[in-house]
Order: sequence, then C-alpha cells, then structure tokens
Amino acid sequence: MTAILEVEALSSGYGPVPVLRDITFSVPTGSIAAVLGANGAGKTTLLRTLSGLLRPTGGRVRYDGADLRGVRVEHLVRRGLAHVPEGRGIVAELTVEENLRLGGLWRRDRADARRAQDEVYQLFEPLARRRRHAGHQLSGGERQMLALGRALIARPRLLLLDEPSLGLAPRVTAQIMALLRRLCDSDGLTVLLVEQNVRSALSVADQGVVMSLGRVVTATPAAQLRDDVTLRHAYLGF
Ligand code: ATP
Repeated sequence: MTAILEVEALSSGYGPVPVLRDITFSVPTGSIAAVLGANGAGKTTLLRTLSGLLRPTGGRVRYDGADLRGVRVEHLVRRGLAHVPEGRGIVAELTVEENLRLGGLWRRDRADARRAQDEVYQLFEPLARRRRHAGHQLSGGERQMLALGRALIARPRLLLLDEPSLGLAPRVTAQIMALLRRLCDSDGLTVLLVEQNVRSALSVADQGVVMSLGRVVTATPAAQLRDDVTLRHAYLGF
C-alpha cells in the first residue's frame, strides 16, 4: 500500500525550543491515523510542522512522494493538504456561507466547488439552516462543523485535524468520525487525527500514533491498541 504521508526522523520546535524529536511514522493512502498522547506531548506541534506552519529543524516529510522542504503553505493547500487547527480557525465576522466559500477559493473547478458546498450543507444540516449567520453566532459544535466543512470543500487528499471532538456532544462526535471513515473508504481521503478522546479516535482509526514528550512511543494498528490492555495501560492510561 502506498503511503501519502511519510515522516522520517522529524524534529521541530518553536525558535530555539525543541519540541519534536526523531518522529518517524507513515500513513497509508485512504487510512485514518490517530495521534494520541497527554497534553503537551507535541501533537499540535506535529500537525503545524506537517502543514508547513513550522519549519522542521531536522528529518524529512514526504507528501505524495515529494519532499516538503521549502514548499510554501499555499502550494500544499493546492496539492490537497488541508489543516483544521485546534480552536477551529473560522472567520467569526463572516457568515457560514462566506466561510465555506473561502474553502473553495483555490479551486479552479468552480462547479465542483459549488457541488462540494451543497454536500457540506447536506452533511451538516445545522449549517444549512444558519448559512446567513455570522461565525461568532454559532455554537461550538456548529463552528467545528464549519471548520471541517470548509476544509472538505477544497476536496483534500490529506486532512490534518486537530481535536475535532472538542466541545462537541458525543452524538455529533460519532457522526463526524463516521463521516471521516466514509470519506476514506469511498473517496480515498487520508486523515491524521489528533484527539484527546482516545476511545472515539480508536473507534475509527486504522493506526494509533502514540506520542510522549515530543517522541513517538509507538505507531501500531488501532485494533491492537483497542484490544491490548497492557499497551493501553502503558501508553494511554486506561
Ligand atoms: P495539547 O493537547 O495540550 O494541545 P499537544 O500534545 O498538542 O498538547 P503541543 O501543543 O504540541 O502539545 O505542545 C508541545 C510542547 O510545545 C509543550 O511543551 C508546549 O509548552 C510547547 N509549545 C506549544 N506551543 C508553543 C509556542 N507557541 N511557543 C513555545 N512553546 C510552545
């Protein structure tokens, strides 16, 4: 199976402060990898480095077979890499509709961008009802749907998702996880999912990448992490 994302001996940090050390794992195309670990383990820093917001201090990242060194963020977006950051990153002053249109700004295929927007309204019905409301008028769950919907309109091939379940009702979280699984199975989307909600992440993930203190302690099939009590106790504390 080809891997759309290959991370090898990656290190990164904030200025002189090192955070990630010697990170190695890969994500097969069309699969979901859950990045798990305690607060401060470096999960958000990993996503920021992969999406080009932070510059690696060592190692390399290959996306779709090409080295990412020196590639500008907007080129990554055009090449199908989407990052939905923690805190959601929607524009609070713009309406739902305007936020979604931002997601399609790069698309050359305008007709497909409109089609993708209609699909998002079908997937997330509360957004359809509130399409003329401003971002700041939305609930936490609706903002999360909007951030995810906006990313999907770009028809990404690799989706980097930071804490999509944060502040969501369990039912909505389950819907989002099921949606991700469906998009991976039917459209070949690949997802790297950072989650505090370990159970819900492992319920859809193919692989668990467990981090501690800026390192990967294990990258293993999610089923193994789900079923092996010793592994769970050692790495995930339950
Ligand atoms: P959380 O779930 O709390 O977001 P995390 O696993 O995502 O945790 P990171 O946010 O990546 O962890 O943080 C990893 C380390 O990097 C922490 O020690 C944190 O203090 C540090 N760090 C995070 N952001 C910055 C920043 N902007 N400047 C300097 N250090 C930072």
